[in-house]
Amino acid sequence: MSLSLLGEVLRNIVRRPSTLKYPRVRELTVAPGSRGRHYADLAKCTGCTLCAIDCPANAIVMEKLPQPLKHNPRGVFPVVDYGKCVFCYQCVFVCPVKAYVSTEVFEMADYSTSSSRDFSLGTLEPGGSQ
Ligand code: SF4
Ligand code: SF4
Repeated sequence: MSLSLLGEVLRNIVRRPSTLKYPRVRELTVAPGSRGRHYADLAKCTGCTLCAIDCPANAIVMEKLPQPLKHNPRGVFPVVDYGKCVFCYQCVFVCPVKAYVSTEVFEMADYSTSSSRDFSLGTLEPGGSQ
């Protein structure tokens, strides 16, 4: 074994690992602008369906709105299946009215199906047509 290789081995023995013991270690930081959970803001979404058509992973399904919205004549909104989504953010970029709310939240592992439905429905004003 050459001396430089031996030095590298010794350095790596004492060096702290670059990785974290996730999920035991939870103090995580992500790079600004990281692509995490995203959902449509229904106060902006017009139901045009462009995001669902353009999604390369077929992760978006259009569902019926629970209430009429003047700016959404077709009465549909996109629901992202996070289990299928590859977080390319094509839907975010293609939306003509910038309706997607993007976050850096990446911890979405769940035993139940995880989708954007409830996050989007949470953007509706209770009781009325917006
Ligand atoms: S981020 Fe990409 S894969 Fe995920 S829903 Fe949007 S377009 Fe589809
Ligand atoms: S592209 Fe934008 S406006 Fe059109 S359905 Fe998707 S979120 Fe709504």
